[in-house]
Amino acid sequence: MTLIVASLASGSSGNALLVRDGQTALLIDCGLPLRTLEPLLCYAGVTPAHLNAIVLTHEHGDHTTGAGTLARRYGVPLVCTPGTRAALNDKHSRGITIEELPAGQQARLGTIEVQSFAVSHDAAEPVGYTVTAAGATIGLAVDLGSWDDGLIARLRPADLLIIEANHCREQLLASAYPWAICQRIIGPRGHLDNQQCGELITAICGDGRPRAIRLAHLSDQANNAQRALKSVRAVLQASNLHHLPMAVLPRQAARTHKHMPIWSSDSLLRQLDMFG
Ligand SMILES: [Zn+2]
Ligand SMILES: [Zn+2]
Repeated sequence: MTLIVASLASGSSGNALLVRDGQTALLIDCGLPLRTLEPLLCYAGVTPAHLNAIVLTHEHGDHTTGAGTLARRYGVPLVCTPGTRAALNDKHSRGITIEELPAGQQARLGTIEVQSFAVSHDAAEPVGYTVTAAGATIGLAVDLGSWDDGLIARLRPADLLIIEANHCREQLLASAYPWAICQRIIGPRGHLDNQQCGELITAICGDGRPRAIRLAHLSDQANNAQRALKSVRAVLQASNLHHLPMAVLPRQAARTHKHMPIWSSDSLLRQLDMFG
Protein backbone atom coordinates (compact mmCIF):
# COMPACT_ATOMS: atom_id res chain seq x y z
CA MET A 1 0.00 0.00 0.00
CA THR A 2 0.98 3.60 -0.55
CA LEU A 3 0.24 6.64 1.60
CA ILE A 4 -0.87 9.51 -0.62
CA VAL A 5 -1.29 13.10 0.52
CA ALA A 6 -3.18 15.75 -1.46
CA SER A 7 -3.62 19.34 -0.36
CA LEU A 8 -6.99 20.67 -1.52
CA ALA A 9 -6.54 24.06 0.12
CA SER A 10 -4.10 25.75 2.49
CA GLY A 11 -4.26 29.25 3.98
CA SER A 12 -6.57 31.63 5.78
CA SER A 13 -9.29 31.20 3.15
CA GLY A 14 -9.54 27.46 3.70
CA ASN A 15 -7.64 24.31 4.66
CA ALA A 16 -8.27 20.71 3.62
CA LEU A 17 -5.73 17.90 3.37
CA LEU A 18 -6.62 14.49 1.99
CA VAL A 19 -4.64 11.53 3.32
CA ARG A 20 -5.32 8.08 1.98
CA ASP A 21 -3.92 4.63 1.47
CA GLY A 22 -5.61 1.93 -0.60
CA GLN A 23 -8.35 1.35 2.00
CA THR A 24 -8.90 4.44 4.14
CA ALA A 25 -9.36 8.11 3.24
CA LEU A 26 -9.23 10.90 5.83
CA LEU A 27 -9.82 14.60 5.33
CA ILE A 28 -7.81 16.67 7.79
CA ASP A 29 -9.73 19.92 8.21
CA CYS A 30 -12.60 20.96 5.99
CA GLY A 31 -12.42 24.72 5.60
CA LEU A 32 -14.01 25.00 2.15
CA PRO A 33 -17.68 25.20 1.24
CA LEU A 34 -19.00 21.93 -0.12
CA ARG A 35 -19.49 23.24 -3.68
CA THR A 36 -15.75 24.00 -3.84
CA LEU A 37 -14.60 20.95 -1.93
CA GLU A 38 -16.55 18.27 -3.76
CA PRO A 39 -14.92 18.70 -7.20
CA LEU A 40 -11.47 18.96 -5.61
CA LEU A 41 -12.04 15.70 -3.74
CA CYS A 42 -13.14 14.04 -6.94
CA TYR A 43 -10.04 15.29 -8.78
CA ALA A 44 -8.04 13.72 -5.95
CA GLY A 45 -9.79 10.41 -6.67
CA VAL A 46 -12.13 10.24 -3.64
CA THR A 47 -15.88 10.74 -3.46
CA PRO A 48 -17.17 12.37 -0.25
CA ALA A 49 -19.14 9.28 0.75
CA HIS A 50 -15.91 7.26 0.77
CA LEU A 51 -14.24 9.43 3.41
CA ASN A 52 -13.77 7.47 6.64
CA ALA A 53 -13.53 10.59 8.81
CA ILE A 54 -13.02 14.35 8.87
CA VAL A 55 -10.27 15.05 11.39
CA LEU A 56 -10.22 18.63 12.71
CA THR A 57 -7.23 20.54 14.07
CA HIS A 58 -9.39 23.27 15.68
CA GLU A 59 -12.67 25.12 15.31
CA HIS A 60 -11.62 28.22 13.32
CA GLY A 61 -13.71 28.75 10.20
CA ASP A 62 -10.84 28.30 7.74
CA HIS A 63 -10.61 24.70 9.06
CA THR A 64 -14.29 23.87 9.60
CA THR A 65 -16.51 25.80 7.17
CA GLY A 66 -17.66 22.75 5.18
CA ALA A 67 -17.20 20.13 7.91
CA GLY A 68 -20.74 20.02 9.27
CA THR A 69 -22.44 19.94 5.87
CA LEU A 70 -20.10 17.29 4.49
CA ALA A 71 -20.37 15.12 7.62
CA ARG A 72 -24.18 15.33 7.70
CA ARG A 73 -24.81 14.87 3.99
CA TYR A 74 -22.53 11.86 3.57
CA GLY A 75 -22.65 10.34 7.06
CA VAL A 76 -18.94 10.92 7.67
CA PRO A 77 -17.89 11.14 11.36
CA LEU A 78 -15.95 14.12 12.71
CA VAL A 79 -12.91 13.46 14.88
CA CYS A 80 -11.66 16.27 17.14
CA THR A 81 -10.60 17.15 20.68
CA PRO A 82 -13.29 17.61 23.37
CA GLY A 83 -12.42 21.33 23.45
CA THR A 84 -12.88 21.70 19.68
CA ARG A 85 -16.17 19.80 19.91
CA ALA A 86 -17.46 22.15 22.60
CA ALA A 87 -16.42 25.17 20.54
CA LEU A 88 -18.06 24.02 17.29
CA ASN A 89 -21.28 25.84 16.68
CA ASP A 90 -24.52 23.97 16.15
CA LYS A 91 -24.20 24.15 12.38
CA HIS A 92 -21.15 21.91 12.53
CA SER A 93 -22.25 19.49 15.23
CA ARG A 94 -26.02 18.95 15.05
CA GLY A 95 -26.99 15.49 13.78
CA ILE A 96 -23.39 14.42 13.27
CA THR A 97 -21.36 11.60 14.80
CA ILE A 98 -18.43 13.16 16.62
CA GLU A 99 -15.62 11.00 17.98
CA GLU A 100 -13.41 12.69 20.54
CA LEU A 101 -9.65 12.32 20.30
CA PRO A 102 -8.06 14.28 23.17
CA ALA A 103 -4.73 16.03 22.58
CA GLY A 104 -1.83 13.62 23.03
CA GLN A 105 -3.87 10.53 22.22
CA GLN A 106 -3.86 8.09 19.35
CA ALA A 107 -6.63 6.46 17.31
CA ARG A 108 -6.79 3.94 14.52
CA LEU A 109 -9.15 5.13 11.78
CA GLY A 110 -9.52 2.26 9.33
CA THR A 111 -5.97 1.38 8.29
CA ILE A 112 -4.54 4.78 9.28
CA GLU A 113 -3.02 5.58 12.68
CA VAL A 114 -3.62 9.15 13.88
CA GLN A 115 -1.68 10.69 16.76
CA SER A 116 -2.71 14.12 18.04
CA PHE A 117 -0.59 16.60 19.97
CA ALA A 118 -1.35 19.99 21.50
CA VAL A 119 -0.24 23.16 19.70
CA SER A 120 -0.13 26.75 20.94
CA HIS A 121 -2.90 28.68 19.13
CA ASP A 122 -5.79 30.91 20.17
CA ALA A 123 -8.48 28.24 19.84
CA ALA A 124 -10.26 26.05 22.42
CA GLU A 125 -8.08 22.92 22.23
CA PRO A 126 -6.02 23.04 19.01
CA VAL A 127 -3.89 20.12 17.87
CA GLY A 128 -1.50 18.97 15.18
CA TYR A 129 -1.31 15.39 13.94
CA THR A 130 1.01 12.70 12.79
CA VAL A 131 -0.65 10.23 10.47
CA THR A 132 0.88 6.84 9.77
CA ALA A 133 0.00 4.23 7.15
CA ALA A 134 1.78 2.01 4.64
CA GLY A 135 5.00 2.33 6.65
CA ALA A 136 5.17 6.13 6.24
CA THR A 137 4.32 9.05 8.51
CA ILE A 138 3.29 12.61 7.79
CA GLY A 139 3.44 15.36 10.40
CA LEU A 140 1.10 18.36 10.29
CA ALA A 141 1.51 21.51 12.37
CA VAL A 142 -0.38 24.55 11.08
CA ASP A 143 -1.92 27.36 13.12
CA LEU A 144 0.59 27.62 15.95
CA GLY A 145 2.41 30.60 17.40
CA SER A 146 5.27 28.84 19.19
CA TRP A 147 6.57 25.36 19.94
CA ASP A 148 8.48 23.40 22.57
CA ASP A 149 10.61 20.25 22.73
CA GLY A 150 7.46 18.12 23.04
CA LEU A 151 6.23 19.29 19.65
CA ILE A 152 9.61 18.59 18.05
CA ALA A 153 9.58 15.03 19.46
CA ARG A 154 6.06 14.48 18.10
CA LEU A 155 7.06 15.60 14.59
CA ARG A 156 10.40 13.75 14.36
CA PRO A 157 8.90 10.44 13.08
CA ALA A 158 7.47 12.25 10.03
CA ASP A 159 8.77 11.48 6.52
CA LEU A 160 6.77 14.44 5.22
CA LEU A 161 6.51 17.61 7.31
CA ILE A 162 3.71 20.09 6.62
CA ILE A 163 4.54 23.20 8.62
CA GLU A 164 3.00 26.64 8.70
CA ALA A 165 4.98 29.53 7.16
CA ASN A 166 2.22 32.07 7.71
CA HIS A 167 3.78 35.45 7.16
CA CYS A 168 6.84 37.57 6.65
CA ARG A 169 7.02 39.61 9.84
CA GLU A 170 8.19 42.83 8.14
CA GLN A 171 5.50 42.52 5.49
CA LEU A 172 2.84 41.88 8.14
CA LEU A 173 3.83 44.89 10.23
CA ALA A 174 3.83 47.09 7.10
CA SER A 175 0.44 45.76 5.97
CA ALA A 176 -2.99 47.35 6.41
CA TYR A 177 -3.86 44.98 9.26
CA PRO A 178 -4.86 46.80 12.48
CA TRP A 179 -2.21 46.69 15.18
CA ALA A 180 -4.31 44.45 17.47
CA ILE A 181 -4.59 41.81 14.73
CA CYS A 182 -0.85 41.98 14.01
CA GLN A 183 -0.21 41.43 17.73
CA ARG A 184 -2.50 38.41 17.71
CA ILE A 185 -0.84 36.91 14.63
CA ILE A 186 2.73 37.32 15.86
CA GLY A 187 1.90 36.31 19.46
CA PRO A 188 2.79 32.91 20.98
CA ARG A 189 -0.77 31.66 20.29
CA GLY A 190 -0.94 33.10 16.77
CA HIS A 191 0.90 31.96 13.65
CA LEU A 192 4.51 31.09 12.76
CA ASP A 193 6.37 33.52 10.53
CA ASN A 194 8.87 32.37 7.88
CA GLN A 195 11.83 32.68 10.22
CA GLN A 196 10.13 30.68 13.00
CA CYS A 197 9.05 28.07 10.47
CA GLY A 198 12.68 27.66 9.37
CA GLU A 199 13.80 27.38 13.00
CA LEU A 200 11.20 24.70 13.75
CA ILE A 201 12.18 22.67 10.66
CA THR A 202 15.84 23.01 11.67
CA ALA A 203 15.07 21.76 15.18
CA ILE A 204 13.18 18.73 13.82
CA CYS A 205 15.55 17.87 10.96
CA GLY A 206 18.74 18.45 12.96
CA ASP A 207 18.75 14.69 13.65
CA GLY A 208 19.92 14.16 10.04
CA ARG A 209 16.98 12.02 8.95
CA PRO A 210 15.82 12.88 5.40
CA ARG A 211 12.37 14.42 5.18
CA ALA A 212 10.30 16.24 2.58
CA ILE A 213 8.94 19.65 3.57
CA ARG A 214 5.78 21.47 2.53
CA LEU A 215 5.21 25.03 3.70
CA ALA A 216 1.56 25.64 4.56
CA HIS A 217 -1.05 28.24 5.54
CA LEU A 218 0.65 31.21 3.83
CA SER A 219 -1.02 34.59 4.34
CA ASP A 220 -2.09 36.18 1.06
CA GLN A 221 -1.65 39.69 2.54
CA ALA A 222 1.71 39.23 4.24
CA ASN A 223 3.60 36.48 2.39
CA ASN A 224 4.11 34.81 -0.95
CA ALA A 225 5.55 31.49 -2.07
CA GLN A 226 8.91 32.84 -3.31
CA ARG A 227 9.48 34.88 -0.19
CA ALA A 228 8.54 31.98 2.13
CA LEU A 229 10.83 29.51 0.33
CA LYS A 230 13.72 31.99 0.28
CA SER A 231 13.38 32.92 3.97
CA VAL A 232 12.97 29.34 5.21
CA ARG A 233 15.89 28.11 3.05
CA ALA A 234 18.08 30.92 4.43
CA VAL A 235 17.40 29.70 7.98
CA LEU A 236 18.03 26.07 7.01
CA GLN A 237 21.28 26.98 5.27
CA ALA A 238 22.91 27.87 8.60
CA SER A 239 22.51 24.21 9.61
CA ASN A 240 23.31 22.86 6.15
CA LEU A 241 19.72 21.64 5.71
CA HIS A 242 18.82 23.74 2.66
CA HIS A 243 18.95 20.66 0.41
CA LEU A 244 15.74 19.23 1.94
CA PRO A 245 13.08 18.89 -0.79
CA MET A 246 10.66 21.74 -0.15
CA ALA A 247 7.62 23.32 -1.80
CA VAL A 248 4.74 25.59 -0.86
CA LEU A 249 1.17 24.32 -0.69
CA PRO A 250 -1.05 26.37 -3.01
CA ARG A 251 -3.98 28.29 -1.52
CA GLN A 252 -6.25 26.05 -3.53
CA ALA A 253 -5.39 22.99 -5.58
CA ALA A 254 -5.46 23.27 -9.36
CA ARG A 255 -8.30 21.32 -10.86
CA THR A 256 -6.14 18.91 -12.77
CA HIS A 257 -5.33 15.43 -11.60
CA LYS A 258 -1.61 15.89 -12.15
CA HIS A 259 -1.41 18.65 -9.58
CA MET A 260 -3.34 16.97 -6.82
CA PRO A 261 -1.00 14.72 -4.83
CA ILE A 262 1.73 16.60 -3.01
CA TRP A 263 3.51 13.52 -1.78
CA SER A 264 3.40 9.76 -1.83
CA SER A 265 5.19 7.17 0.27
CA ASP A 266 5.99 5.26 -2.90
CA SER A 267 9.71 5.81 -3.44
CA LEU A 268 9.49 6.26 -7.23
CA LEU A 269 6.73 8.84 -6.93
CA ARG A 270 8.67 10.50 -4.16
CA GLN A 271 11.67 10.87 -6.46
CA LEU A 272 9.48 12.42 -9.12
CA ASP A 273 8.21 14.89 -6.53
CA MET A 274 4.66 15.09 -7.76
CA PHE A 275 4.10 18.58 -6.55
CA GLY A 276 3.29 20.73 -9.59
ZN1 LIG B 1 -6.07 28.59 10.02
ZN1 LIG C 1 -6.65 29.02 13.56
